[in-house]
Amino acid sequence: MKLIIVGPPGAGKGTQSNRIVKHSGLRWLSTGEVFRDNISNGTDLGRAAKRYMDAGEFVPDNVTIPMVEGTLDAWGDNYLLDGYPRNLAQAEALSSFLDYRQTQIDLVFNLHVETDTLVDRLLGRAKIEGRVDDTEPVIRHRLAVYLDQTKPVTDYYRGSGIVHDIDGNGTVDQVWDQIAAIL
Ligand code: AMP
Repeated sequence: MKLIIVGPPGAGKGTQSNRIVKHSGLRWLSTGEVFRDNISNGTDLGRAAKRYMDAGEFVPDNVTIPMVEGTLDAWGDNYLLDGYPRNLAQAEALSSFLDYRQTQIDLVFNLHVETDTLVDRLLGRAKIEGRVDDTEPVIRHRLAVYLDQTKPVTDYYRGSGIVHDIDGNGTVDQVWDQIAAIL
């Protein structure tokens, strides 16, 4: 099974992904986590990603797409993509990658959360985790980039009837109950 979870920063993708992989035994690819790990470890990939992440911009596709495809090629058939694809070029690249392997995405979970709630959550996370990209101006920029670049990704998959809209405004359990009912 191949799943995608999509939603704005602060929507709870990471928290719900954690539950999905425990529930379904999928491998979990969080592109944001991969970049953060690479930055911590001082790798070339980390150096390539850092300035974009710090500014709330996307890491360029010519860095991101090969990183994802290399990982998925090593993984086989069962995985959850968290934070990918994040723009139409990535969605199209993923479709070609999967077409070539005669497979497809089974489900897309689209988390929806009100903007004020997102900003509050992200500022709270900034205090706890100290993420460089969780300051208010960068948060607002990341939300704008999401609307511009990532919203079209959901529409891209809607035609196939695999998108499930999830109300992400409630508690972790309330959100999870909606996802679990679909899984
Ligand atoms: P996240 O942990 O999903 O919020 O991602 C944190 C940051 O990592 C994003 O703001 C981007 O700078 C970068 N990033 C994560 N996923 C992608 C992606 N699919 N394409 C480009 N940049 C990404």
